[in-house]
Amino acid sequence: MSEWGLDRIERVFIDRKLEQSQIAMRARELFSRERITWVDDEPLTEKKGELSAPDFEASKRLLFITEFKGRFFKRCPGARPGLTCCNYFVLNLGSQCNMNCSYCYLQSFVNSPVMKIYANIETALDELSALGKDLGNESLRVGTGETTDSLSFDPLTLYSRRLIEYFRNYPNWRLEFKTKSSQVEQFLNVEHAGNVVVSFSINPQNVIEHEEYGTASLESRLRAARIARDKKFQVAFHIDPMIWHMGWQDSYRSLVRQVCATFAPQDINVISVGALRFQPEQRHMMRERFGKSRGDGQEWGPEHQQERQPTSWVVGAEMFSSSDGKLRYDQRLREEMLHFVVNEFRQNSREWPIFLCMETPEVWLNAMNSLPKSNELVAPLFNHSLTRKFNAQIRN
Ligand code: SF4
Repeated sequence: MSEWGLDRIERVFIDRKLEQSQIAMRARELFSRERITWVDDEPLTEKKGELSAPDFEASKRLLFITEFKGRFFKRCPGARPGLTCCNYFVLNLGSQCNMNCSYCYLQSFVNSPVMKIYANIETALDELSALGKDLGNESLRVGTGETTDSLSFDPLTLYSRRLIEYFRNYPNWRLEFKTKSSQVEQFLNVEHAGNVVVSFSINPQNVIEHEEYGTASLESRLRAARIARDKKFQVAFHIDPMIWHMGWQDSYRSLVRQVCATFAPQDINVISVGALRFQPEQRHMMRERFGKSRGDGQEWGPEHQQERQPTSWVVGAEMFSSSDGKLRYDQRLREEMLHFVVNEFRQNSREWPIFLCMETPEVWLNAMNSLPKSNELVAPLFNHSLTRKFNAQIRN
C-alpha cells in the first residue's frame, strides 16, 4: 500500500468567488478540467448532517475549496481539566483528510460530505497578527494538524511556504506541522527562522498497514524527517496512538530502534507518546467502516476489500470510559505500554525529550517516574502562564 496522493481525489468543487485566488489557479494546474466543478454554494448539502459510513468514505475523494467564516485559531482540544496539557494552540486551515486511519477522531464530528480547504489563509494570518500585538514575544506553539493533516494537501495549497515565511516575523513562536505523509519537498527551500517543527506521527509498519490506510510508510516518514532535519528544520515524533496487538512489544521496540538508528536526541525537538483513545460516538462509524458490514445492508466494493485488513485492532479493542469522556485502554495497560516505549528510549539515552500526550498525572508518574513540571527536558512545554494570557486576550 502506498501513500495516497492528490490523484485519488475525484472531484474538486471550487467556490466561484475564488476564481482568481492562488489556490484556485493551482488547482487548475493540478487537476484536469473534467474534475473541477465551479459552484456558487456549498455542494452536496442534501447529505449534510450525520454521515453514513459510505458517505464518510466517499467524502475522502471529494474536495471543496472555500472560505472559512469562523475563528481559525484556538487552544488544543486536549486542554481539559484532569489532563496534563502541553500548552498547544491550533490553526485550522481545512477540515477532513485524504488519508484514512481506522481510529481517526474526525469520525466523531465531521459532518460534511466533502473535504474542505480554506482559501482565506490571509484572514487566519490577520487573526494571528492581532494576537501578536500582545503575545508576539511569548513562546507560542501553533500547530496546523488538528482538523486535517498539516501536509497531505500541501502540494496543492503550498500553505507551509506561506506559514514558514509568516513565522519569520515571530521568532519566539513555533510553527508545528503534524503529518502522517512524507510531503516535505515543497517547503525545503523556504528561508525559516529556526522556529518550524516538522512533526511526524509514527507507528510500527505493521500498525500502519493494519490501521493507517493511505499514509506514508514508516520508512518514507523517517526519510522525510531526515531530509527536514538536514535542512535545519526541527523534527518531532508522535508515537501516538500506540495500538495494542499480539506482539506489540516487538513492534514498538523495533520502531524505537529505527528512530534511534536514524537520529540522535539532540536532533529531535520532542517525542510525544500516547495510547489509543477515541470518542464513544465514533465507535459505530469505526465498526461500519473498518469492521465487516458497512452498516446499510450492502457490501463494500472490491477496492475497499483490497485496501482493508480483515479486522481492525482498534475496532475490536476493549476500551473503558475515562474522566474526559473518551474511551481508553484501562489505566494499567496504558501505563505498561507507555512505560515500555519510554524505557526503550531511555535505554538508548536519557537525553531523548519524551512526554506523554493527553494523560493524567497518575499515568505520568507510573509511566515516566516524574511529573511534567519536574522533567527538565520537557518542563517548558507545561508552563501555563501563557495559556492564561491567551484566554484573557480572547475574552477581551
Ligand atoms: S492522517 Fe490524521 S487526520 Fe488523516 S485520517 Fe489519519 S488520523 Fe485522521
